[in-house]
Amino acid sequence: MKNEAFSNLVEGYRHFRNNYLSEQYVAYRLWATKSQKPRIMMIACSDSRVNPVILTHAGLGDVFMVNNVANLIPPYKEGKDTHHSTSSALEFALTELEVEEIIILGHSQCGGIKALMNDINKTASGTYSFIEPWVQIAAKAKEKVQSNYPECSHAEQTTLCEKEALLVSLENLETFPWVKSALEQGKLRTHAWYFDIGSGDIYEYNVDKACFLPLLDME
Ligand SMILES: [Zn+2]
Repeated sequence: MKNEAFSNLVEGYRHFRNNYLSEQYVAYRLWATKSQKPRIMMIACSDSRVNPVILTHAGLGDVFMVNNVANLIPPYKEGKDTHHSTSSALEFALTELEVEEIIILGHSQCGGIKALMNDINKTASGTYSFIEPWVQIAAKAKEKVQSNYPECSHAEQTTLCEKEALLVSLENLETFPWVKSALEQGKLRTHAWYFDIGSGDIYEYNVDKACFLPLLDME
């Protein structure tokens, strides 16, 4: 059986390998001799259309990356009884790498937010074991959108919730002690970005104006 998508990946790797010794990768190969030291951390959705490294033309070694369903950050919660994937990545990024910027990248047509908005807790084959409780991290965003925009259609509310959920994650970010202290010491900045897949536009949340503005206008 030939899987074209898989073959394309291998071809892509062939291209990478052929260029690996070129100047383009000199900087990266320097990192191979020492520990990584990315200055930026990004938390993005697992969605296959939203790849931060492609979107920003970041190089190897530039971005410490986390992908999860709906790019959510849970609140800080101690406990050894559960598996805190995103929280452990945050801990490493702050306490070891000491990243200077954290960008949470949301996007349009997010399946995770759609699941939250549609109360999807069942599939044809049974019940979601993990997705339903996971997306509840953004339950507050859903409630806010439904109570503030009752006149909007369900589709419009879902889009609003994609953005509102980013603000919940920003808020949760500050519940982590090392994030809070890095922010207080001026060593860290946090950002919420929203990528519109259809137009290719990225918007950043502006705290002072309390709205999302085009990223390229903010530079
Ligand atoms: Zn998504």
